[in-house]
Amino acid sequence: MTVNIRSIQHYMYCPRQFGLLVLNQDWSENALVVMANIMHERVHSGKHEIHSRGKIELSSVSLYHDELDLYGIADCIEFVESKAGVYIEQLGDKFDVNIVEYKPRQPVSGTANETDAIQVFAQKLCADYIWNCKSTGYIYYGDTHRRVKLHLNEEYDKYYTLLQRLISEMNDILESGSIPARVKGQKCSGCSLKDVCMPQNKKYAVRSLVKEEQSI
Ligand code: SF4
Repeated sequence: MTVNIRSIQHYMYCPRQFGLLVLNQDWSENALVVMANIMHERVHSGKHEIHSRGKIELSSVSLYHDELDLYGIADCIEFVESKAGVYIEQLGDKFDVNIVEYKPRQPVSGTANETDAIQVFAQKLCADYIWNCKSTGYIYYGDTHRRVKLHLNEEYDKYYTLLQRLISEMNDILESGSIPARVKGQKCSGCSLKDVCMPQNKKYAVRSLVKEEQSI
């Protein structure tokens, strides 16, 4: 089944949240979600294509990987002219490809958290597939105005193995049609879906609920 890159973070945060969002189409926003949305609205307010000396920046770039069944939208892709880069036919020259994801807050540790890194890694796999390149991933943090480089190429195998596992687990949920129960120890205080989640509920299957409805 095709996986939206954005939903990987939801799954990593809480499998039940992923199930509610994707299978139930539930949606609710809290302050953190609103902050992230405002930042992304700024970035995605119309597609931008900025040409500066030796660099082309595109915003809201659709990405896909047919073999991995992944798709998503990158906040920003930069094409930096480089003799050692790859030839990009549409741009008629050789470029290094950078992926830049925007996040509102930098973690206290200063380094990107794993959920953000895996999101950019999934974008990187798509970008590498589309442009036959070895792209580099960055996160730009709105609060500190800092751009942090991710070591995705250096730790490729680690991220690839993790991403494959996550996609396989997400597909299991999608195929089952069942919203997972709350995981023991799950932290719910920052979750925007708290009010609709009813985390004490056991897991239930959307398909069986529909069947029950239809049989009445
Ligand atoms: S309230 Fe807790 S269990 Fe429910 S979706 Fe949010 S994080 Fe998951």
